[in-house]
Amino acid sequence: MSKLPASQDAHSVISNTDERDNLPSKIFRQAVDQAALAISITDAKANILYANAAFRRTTGYGEEELIGHNESMLSYRVTPRLVYDTLWAQIQRQRPWNGLLVNKRKDGNRYLADVTITPVMDEAGITTHYLGMQRDITEVHRLERQVQNQKTLIESVVDAAQVAIVLLDEQERVVLDNHEYKKLVGSLGKEPAVKVLATLRAQQDEAFASAYQKHRNIAAREVCIELPNRGQRWFSCAISWFEENDVGADAFYEPQHRYYLLLTIQDISELKQQQEAIRLNSLRALLSEQEHAQGLRETLAGAIYQLEVPFNMLNAAAHLLERRLASQLVSSDKGELSMTVLDEAITKSREALEALRACIPAPSVEAMQAVNLNEVLSNMLKLSTSQLLNANIVVEWLPAENSPMVLGNYTQLCNLFKQLVENAIDAVNEQRSGRRELRISCASFADHVDVFVEDSGAGVPDELRYQIFQPFFSRKKSPSQHIGLGLAMAQDVVNRHGGTIDIDPDFHIGCRVRVQLPCLVGGSHV
Ligand code: FAD
Repeated sequence: MSKLPASQDAHSVISNTDERDNLPSKIFRQAVDQAALAISITDAKANILYANAAFRRTTGYGEEELIGHNESMLSYRVTPRLVYDTLWAQIQRQRPWNGLLVNKRKDGNRYLADVTITPVMDEAGITTHYLGMQRDITEVHRLERQVQNQKTLIESVVDAAQVAIVLLDEQERVVLDNHEYKKLVGSLGKEPAVKVLATLRAQQDEAFASAYQKHRNIAAREVCIELPNRGQRWFSCAISWFEENDVGADAFYEPQHRYYLLLTIQDISELKQQQEAIRLNSLRALLSEQEHAQGLRETLAGAIYQLEVPFNMLNAAAHLLERRLASQLVSSDKGELSMTVLDEAITKSREALEALRACIPAPSVEAMQAVNLNEVLSNMLKLSTSQLLNANIVVEWLPAENSPMVLGNYTQLCNLFKQLVENAIDAVNEQRSGRRELRISCASFADHVDVFVEDSGAGVPDELRYQIFQPFFSRKKSPSQHIGLGLAMAQDVVNRHGGTIDIDPDFHIGCRVRVQLPCLVGGSHV
């Protein structure tokens, strides 16, 4: 506080004193009498000498019932002794005392009094009287307790919730959290809410950022958090906003608002795992069904091809016989008979071939769609996990940094890479010793996507680099399981997608298959 110059200070003190002296004591009396605050004046032993109208209204006693009686007449006798001892110790040291006392009105009703007692001293500095001022704060206290009770109730409900709940202020500092949220601190580290919000911002679209900015509620969004060495965890998060009116004095006439963010976080990792398992199982079933159908198609095609040879020979024989009959090189009796038999054989053969053709399962019709090769490759690795573990193969998986999108047939692409992964596993298994490694990498370029499947097997000799893509070519030891159609199918799928597949001639520590597919830019092939 700035100090006034000595002369000015002295002047104002003199003028105040003058004004006070000029004020008749009757005014003082009237002011105290009419004050809205309950005021009493006692002697040094708390015997009431004066009580104003507000005091009489508050206590319910008339003047004659109060004067001469001790202030203790108001005590409801539940205020602890220590409070009174402190009160008296304080005022006896000639210091004012303020505290809460439970008082009883004349009608027996209790009220909570906020009491201030000030000692009044004479010129000799001796306490002659006490000035008591009190306010009935029962209602204020009731409201305070009600708020406290509600807070406790809300905290218990929030704490009992099976979902992590946290309330953050505008600086994203935790204001309130529950038991489940505290458990998240254990698994995600400090501060889970900040981590979740940062991931939501990074993973969600612009609509999320805009809703957040405008304090609009955001319904459940799934977010995936990668934990170093502990895999990933999935959460379903929802955001709602709570607007608080500023309780500060300066905001009394000019209300100010503060926003709080209520974030609920539900761990859905288990659910996601189950969904993922179901998804992979159905993909596995679909692939195996297609593999089966493809095998059947190829077997039947092979059989038809084999049958077409004798059928063509029969046709040729029939034509020959027909010509001989026409030129009478053969006796007509025998010839007619042979011709009939041949015709019948041809008809039966044609019928048999048609019946076989009808048995060929129709290829599945699947629309071309935007396919993320990172997703396809990671799915294929997941599907091959047990094989890879059984074969003790170390896998290195390097996904493309940008989403490697191609326009393609999802299941066919899955089959393509499944075939390449299975070939790689077989190649490593055929090696008795040495490294057991599989490395899959994907890289996205402006106009194409490269996928490399490398294994540490024996590799493919240069002279067989093209031959291994031919149908029915197999170098594998058990031909019953390998009819040599896998790479032919892979080649076929790559061709249908406008890409290329080849064996890297410069890779000498195993086999490196490179698949190059045109990438999808803005919904079309480059
Ligand atoms: P005790 O505390 O045992 O005291 C009984 C009486 O003995 C006191 O009233 C007082 O006259 C005297 N006394 C006690 N200790 C001392 C001491 N150290 N020095 C001098 N005298 C002492 N109490 C309430 O419950 N409600 C009120 O609204 C209230 N207002 C008060 C207003 C004033 C201005 C003062 C001075 C006191 C007030 N009291 C009030 C305190 C009250 O005087 C009692 O101390 C209190 O009610 C406890 O009652 P008790 O019967 O246990 O009395």
